[in-house]
Amino acid sequence: MADRPFTFLETLGENFGYVFSVEEAYKFIGELETKTTTKFTCYTTVKDFGAIDYTKRSHKICWEDGKKDEQSSRRIAFTGIPYMCLGEKKYDCQHGKDRNVSLKRKRRQAAENGDIVVTKKRRVQVQSIRKVNCTARIKLREILMFPEFKILKDTEWRRKFSSSKLRAALKTGNVHPERRIYIEFPSNSDHQNHLVGEAGGMCQPVDKRIIYRIHELVADGIKDVNQVRHQLELFVKNVLFRDKELPKTTNRRFYPTTKDIRTHVYQATVKNRKSSQESSVPDQLASSTDTPDVSMVDHELPIMESRVSVVELPISNVTFETIQANAVGLSEGDDPQVEGQKCRDLLEQIKQLTFEVQDKEVLARVNSRFQEVLDEMQLSCCVRQCR
Ligand SMILES: [Zn+2]
Repeated sequence: MADRPFTFLETLGENFGYVFSVEEAYKFIGELETKTTTKFTCYTTVKDFGAIDYTKRSHKICWEDGKKDEQSSRRIAFTGIPYMCLGEKKYDCQHGKDRNVSLKRKRRQAAENGDIVVTKKRRVQVQSIRKVNCTARIKLREILMFPEFKILKDTEWRRKFSSSKLRAALKTGNVHPERRIYIEFPSNSDHQNHLVGEAGGMCQPVDKRIIYRIHELVADGIKDVNQVRHQLELFVKNVLFRDKELPKTTNRRFYPTTKDIRTHVYQATVKNRKSSQESSVPDQLASSTDTPDVSMVDHELPIMESRVSVVELPISNVTFETIQANAVGLSEGDDPQVEGQKCRDLLEQIKQLTFEVQDKEVLARVNSRFQEVLDEMQLSCCVRQCR
């Protein structure tokens, strides 16, 4: 793993290191998965992992992991700085232990006893992951370091003295801790009973962001498998892996098979049909910015990154003036169909940018100007109907 590109990881040993935020930890997991063509799923976590409020309950003050003479490359060694472990989050390889065995057995028994009624629904099989008890795991630990209470010499008396000073400071809130996420992660050799690397590419589930993109394309009327595939390739190249090394084309997670694409296009079509039957026009406008049914939380990877538009126009050139100009130009255009399409193209770009822009004030301004545009359009509809 010497050539791994995790430059943001402070390496402490083989397959062990730390980052300064939970977002960086998720980014790390995403990169590890892509690089090794593996996939991990969270099986246990504490509430609020990554932003745990340490003042809510007391935590043990530690100086190092385990015993001093213990030789492990994945332990926090003594640095003189006291720390607290606030909580953990653990991931299994997707081919790890089947953690739902007892739940499935209980449900089966309940169904046999007639305690529950199982209604059989016709479902499209998307992908099933084979569980083969692979033991590869990732462990994240949320740690608070207290550098102000560092001791320069390791003696029992100094540890006790500094700990008591730290406890007193914690009571008054006079501390400035540094939050870190420690990451223990496996090597390729830790994976068992299944293929890893390029050979394991076909066992990868399709990425949630790819599924979301398919839903977006279908909503825009693109349903042809080849066209969808072409758009997905652009999405992977220009958005998910912009300025980064591309994953192998054998990795099904980012390059789904024809059958995968067809299945998700079908599901998106059914979903769109349902929502168009259920919603009125204004509702549809409102829901168009909602997160789709498909969960976007894929290891909580940076989602906004995934939603940046693949449009070929330079995004930075889209100003609110151009939006307004286009919206105003609607009534001036010779062909309302063409002008309408221009508006929809702009809206699509704006929709993507709303995920990227993080400035609350800018978003509030955009929102209020949008409200004006909406009022104008509703008025225009109303005038037309009254004529
Ligand atoms: Zn594995």
